[in-house]
Amino acid sequence: MNIGVLGAGQLGRMLALAGYPLANRFTFLDTTGHPSAGIGDVMVYTDQHHLLDDFLAKVDLVTYEFEHLPVALVQAIEERKPVYPSSEAIRVCQNRAEEKALFDRLGIPTPAYRLVEHADELEAAARELGCPVVAKSVTEGYDGKGQAVIRDPAEAHDAWRAIGHPRLIVEAFVDFVREVSIIAVRGRDGEVVFYPMAENVHVDGILRYSLAPLPDLDDAVQQTADDYIRALLDELDYVGVLTLELFQTRDGGLLANEMAPRVHNSGHWTIDGAVTSQFENHLRAIQGLPLGDTAARMPTCMVNVIGREGDAAELLALPDAHLHRYDKSERPGRKLAHVNLLAPTHAELLDRVRACAALLPEAPAPTFSFE
Ligand code: AMP
Repeated sequence: MNIGVLGAGQLGRMLALAGYPLANRFTFLDTTGHPSAGIGDVMVYTDQHHLLDDFLAKVDLVTYEFEHLPVALVQAIEERKPVYPSSEAIRVCQNRAEEKALFDRLGIPTPAYRLVEHADELEAAARELGCPVVAKSVTEGYDGKGQAVIRDPAEAHDAWRAIGHPRLIVEAFVDFVREVSIIAVRGRDGEVVFYPMAENVHVDGILRYSLAPLPDLDDAVQQTADDYIRALLDELDYVGVLTLELFQTRDGGLLANEMAPRVHNSGHWTIDGAVTSQFENHLRAIQGLPLGDTAARMPTCMVNVIGREGDAAELLALPDAHLHRYDKSERPGRKLAHVNLLAPTHAELLDRVRACAALLPEAPAPTFSFE
């Protein structure tokens, strides 16, 4: 089976690495001009229709690892080859207003929000919701880009100019206990499996650490997250891996932040820490194969390597450490690699995470909600 992947970054690279044991082959279609997968067959798409024809001639089915794609392109591909997940999932997930409307329709709680199209409306929304609020561009935002925290309604006009986008979503600022994510996989036959939820530590909007399973997570909270993501999967008739990022509040409640229609950075821990990785399970799902066990093997933490690489030999000398490099050049804020650390107990795991962070020049101090 030759799998066509829209997008050609590290997520595509890791999909391919998971697919070779299943005798899959991979053809990537990059729309950014900067592919980094470094594996499989990579084609760079620039509106040349013959290139799209060449791509489609090579592949049996199409998936994606990047959702900021023209929906019309995905719809055109869908006319000619099976696409999993469907273009509808891309359409919804690349627009925060559509995403929030879907959460509302399915009864999935979110932070209170308003949609605004003018600096005055932004100021009014900041007053109504009560500062601080977070303003985010409705489209094209990721890793905290296109966002501003407004601490006083008087800052609204500056924030509007700084974001520079015609339509924003304004959200009440959530005083969360921790950020968590739930990753689930839905097969072509509608079967759904769920990974244990992870705690995600972000700094400046970029994910730094993901740890799972959580030592203090109530079964009822995992069940609630499972119910939310199952509702999304069923509504979208989704096939493949879906990620839902949530805020956990002081009373244990969950508020949905955003979702990603793909394998996700907060699921990289599953490569070494779960019986079946998110990448393998995505490939199983889209090919109509049985889904694999999502249980964690051991407490696991994923440490992102951002901006500058650490010394590989030192990192690999840590016990039960697994280095996954993306073969990219160093640049501030760029995701270059991650390290998965496993340990029999959470206490030992935290020691290993601190030892790992000390070896990475740009790593912030690791702190988790349950310490
Ligand atoms: P996002 O791009 O929506 O995932 O936002 C990036 C990061 O900004 C999140 O991971 C949070 O750390 C923070 N953030 C976003 N929205 C809110 C909110 N409503 N309240 C508090 N923090 C937020």
